[in-house]
Amino acid sequence: MAKASVKSDKGHSQGTDGRATLDLVAIAYVYDGCLYLAVTRRCTLHCTFCPKTHGRWTVAGNSLHDDPEPSAAELVAAAEAVGLERHQEVAFVGLGEPTLRLPVVLETAKQLRARGFYVRLVTDGLASLREGHDVAPLLEGVFHEVDVSLNAPDGATYAALCPNPYGERAHAAACEFLRRVRLYVPCAKATVVAIPGLDLEACRALARDLRVELRVRPYFDPLRGEPHPAPLPPSANRPRSSSVAPPEA
Ligand code: SF4
Repeated sequence: MAKASVKSDKGHSQGTDGRATLDLVAIAYVYDGCLYLAVTRRCTLHCTFCPKTHGRWTVAGNSLHDDPEPSAAELVAAAEAVGLERHQEVAFVGLGEPTLRLPVVLETAKQLRARGFYVRLVTDGLASLREGHDVAPLLEGVFHEVDVSLNAPDGATYAALCPNPYGERAHAAACEFLRRVRLYVPCAKATVVAIPGLDLEACRALARDLRVELRVRPYFDPLRGEPHPAPLPPSANRPRSSSVAPPEA
């Protein structure tokens, strides 16, 4: 496993130079030409289609089980160690919800943007609901792109696929976050995972209502990490007509 010495104040094992040793693959990794930074393993959601929910922590061949909760300096150092300069885009992403550590994400993203990298945030869109205030303006001038995981066309399906403390209203909050983000960043997108049985046409209609592009991400069996048909939870397997909902994320 790749390791590097970077400054840390979090009690990681110390090298002879007094600097901590971090597992880089737990922080930065490359997938499909993009450099990803994993800021935390914590989530607000408990998605049924997520490998983490099923005890699998492997992404792009890397185990992300450890959660070093890196500082901005550590994130940048980890990115550099896995070839930052060879990439044009850096994305803040899971396994975990980046906005749970928003100050660190903003600080890191600002540094990377100032160096000329295209900076993208992948989020559940629940930051404003969680924090109790509108977070979208904080993203202005920091991110080139924000991708919000809508996950479903309506609150009931969302709550079935992504159990969370807010229940069905989390979906509307994510939609509203996407509406707000669209005002502050050049590119805002909605995403869904192509889970077998999910009404993608209703998701497309929702994205149109929100005036954003919908990106459909491939579904991978969360237990096996490869394409595999799997049923939706019973409450998410509703007739198409009842899963169409006006708008969010
Ligand atoms: S928000 Fe992302 S990382 Fe968290 S449980 Fe859902 S899919 Fe997994």
